[in-house]
Parts: sequence; C-alpha cells; structure tokens
Amino acid sequence: MNETHDPHLECWVRSAHAADTDFPIQNLPFGIFRRSHSDDEPRAGVAIGDQILDVTTWLSEGLFDGAAAEAAARCALPTLNALMALGNEAASSLRRGIVGLLRSDGIGYENFKRLGDACLTPMKGAQLYAPVQIGDYTDFYASVYHATNVGSMFRPDNPLLPNYKFVPIGYHGRASSIVVSGTDIVRPSGQTKDSKSETPSFGSTRMLDYESELGIFVGRGNSLGAPISIQRAPDHIFGFCLVNDWSARDIQAWEYQPLGPFLAKNFATSVSPWVITSEAIEPFRAPAFVRPAADPTPLSYLDAPTDREKGSIQLFLEVWLQSGMMREQNIPATKLSRTAFGSMYWTPAQLLTHHASNGCNLRTGDLLGSGTISGESKTERGCLLELTWKGAEPLLLPTGEERRFLEDGDEVIMRGYCEREGYARIGFGDCGGMVLPSKEI
Ligand code: CA
Repeated sequence: MNETHDPHLECWVRSAHAADTDFPIQNLPFGIFRRSHSDDEPRAGVAIGDQILDVTTWLSEGLFDGAAAEAAARCALPTLNALMALGNEAASSLRRGIVGLLRSDGIGYENFKRLGDACLTPMKGAQLYAPVQIGDYTDFYASVYHATNVGSMFRPDNPLLPNYKFVPIGYHGRASSIVVSGTDIVRPSGQTKDSKSETPSFGSTRMLDYESELGIFVGRGNSLGAPISIQRAPDHIFGFCLVNDWSARDIQAWEYQPLGPFLAKNFATSVSPWVITSEAIEPFRAPAFVRPAADPTPLSYLDAPTDREKGSIQLFLEVWLQSGMMREQNIPATKLSRTAFGSMYWTPAQLLTHHASNGCNLRTGDLLGSGTISGESKTERGCLLELTWKGAEPLLLPTGEERRFLEDGDEVIMRGYCEREGYARIGFGDCGGMVLPSKEI
C-alpha cells in the first residue's frame, strides 16, 4: 500500500467526502465518458465524488509527467484497453499523479478554478460507456453455495458434481452482447419444454433472472502456450467491475445438457461503468475461503501462500429491484439480497491461473465473471432462482406484487462496496438494467 490509500487524504472536490459516495479520493476508478450535448469523443475519465476528472485535459495542461504522463496519454481513447495494456505499474503512476492533483494541498484546485468544466465535469451531465473493448468473456461458477443450491434443484441426489472442489468450473460466454449499466434488456425468446409437455415450444422466457457477479478485467495478457503462475496472476488483473449475467432459466434447463449454457445466457450481460483498479482494492485484500477439513486442498498450480492469505476481497454485494408499479407509485427500489465475496470457493487469481493453465492466451480487456455470488444464508442468494427456490417461494414487493422471476418493467440494480475498519469505504457504482417486453421473431 502507499500514500494513495491514506484514509486521511483531504480532497478539494467536496462530494468526494460525502458519507455515501462510492468514489472518495482513495478509489479513483477509470471509465469512459462524454459530456452530454457536446461534440466530444468518448474518452477516459476518473470518478471522484459526483464528478468525472477528464484525464486528457489535465495532461494537455502539462500537469502529469514521467510514467503518469505516458499512462495519461492513453486516456484520450474510447476504451481503456491501451491504458490496461501498459500494466498495473503504469496505472499506479497515473493514480499517484491524480491524487497529487486532487488533494487539498496540491496544485489541482488552482487549475480547476481556471479550467472549470473542461477538467472536471458533473457525472449527471455525462454519458457513460462500456469501459473496455472486451474481446473474450468467460463466466465461472466459483460460489460453492450457489453451485450447491442450483445443483440440488436440478439434481437433488447429486447436487455438487465430483469435479467442483478440484476444477474452477467455467464456460466461454459471448462478448458482443455485453452492455453498460443503464442499457435496457429485451426479454429473450427461446425453446423451452415444461415437464408436462412432450415437445418444446418457442416463445418468451417465463423465467428471466439476474446473477450478481464480480467482473475481473485482464490487464497484461499472456502469449499462447505460456501459462500464468498463481504467484503472477495478480499482475495480470487490471481491475474489477460488477456484472449482471442475465439468465433465462427455462431456456437454460432445456438446452444446457450436454454442452452447457448457450442462448439462455448470451442475450445480454450488464457491466458497471467504472473499473475499480487492483491497487484501489489493496486495503481490502482478505484471506481465501477456508475450506472445510474434509475438502481437498487445491492442486499445487492453484495454491500459493500469498493467495491463501490475501487472494480474496472484503467486498459486499447487494441486489435491488424496482418494479414498474413501484416506479409509478414513487416507491424506491427494495433490497433483495446482500452477500460477501469472501464466501467464494475460488479466488480471482485461481480463476485466472486456471484459465491460462492449458496455455490459453488471455488478452488485454478480457472479462472473467466470478459466477453468481451467493453465501450460506437465504438473504445472501445472488439470483432469483435461489431466492425464490425456482419460483416455489415468491418474494413479496412493497406494492404487494409477488416475484418468482423478473417481469417486464422490472429494474435490477446491483451495488458493491469494499469496507474495512481504518480505511475509506470504496464503492463500484451501480450496475442497472430494466427489462423490456420481447420482440417478435
Ligand atoms: Ca453466471
């Protein structure tokens, strides 16, 4: 850790000191923005309080130098990939430079008085874009509680398959349908077959669900054929975001054997707009999940003392829902669940190392989803399939409406934050999306 994590840092952007802000000076996540109603091209900015710092403007004023200036020069582009490809040390130099400008005793405020909106723009007056050009997307299944719950619904006699505690299970997802928070989600149609019918039919999904996950962005990649050791894995993780892996459970149930999820998952995946850097996460590193004594220890390529000691993250995730009727009646979103990332069976480094262990090349900007983050208790379940136990135990909304699965007009909002005594709380910003009716084929 370094001076950028100091909880006593003072910042001249007042909203960065608000008790409920996700973006204090200790966070400084990167995103892609454009001032609404401007001719600007989308480019990289840094969230601070309720504002966005325009890195390009500060660079053109000569306010960064050395490695920070080199990294800042990659921020004039419409994705973060070029910055991420420089590696975590470069992003770290830029982070130190930005802290130097934003701290109350630095030279930033004098320049802000001169440059105004050109260097710092209100978030509410800006449009946010998907932060990264994602080449490949892989989704894992790293919560043993989620895997056990889902398994026991579909295979009551055999909920957890014998490979689960040895292999981080995953599948290749689809990058083309990844969208930024705020993008509407059209209800997908597909083939489904209920147990009473002999043949399937095609139509709108009746079991639309969300999955609350952590997204892991690959920074520097690896060459084809060159695996990444568990010790080196953290150097390849640029940062994190929230992910909603929208899922159609009835389509999934009919199609998933023998090759796994396909059209039940690839119609949309939402990501939060800000990339929380690995460096910002540093104060919240936490021990990996402690496996019960009866469980196998990970095979040696997935095991390292550093990963056991600090491979996980002290991170909490919440899912909120506002139905169309709630919106009409001005009833705010209601919280459906809260869970801790620390209950995940596999760490981000284990997922990354396993992915590249056969020589598969990960590239800058690739996204790894953690899998649905569910804890041991009922209130910690990260999808409706588990929360309502496949619809058998519907949730009651403040309007009196029941929910088994998502209805048209429902907005799902995911939130995440790292919190630890002695450090400034840092948040991820919302990952939201509203369900729209199906379209005819
Ligand atoms: Ca998933």
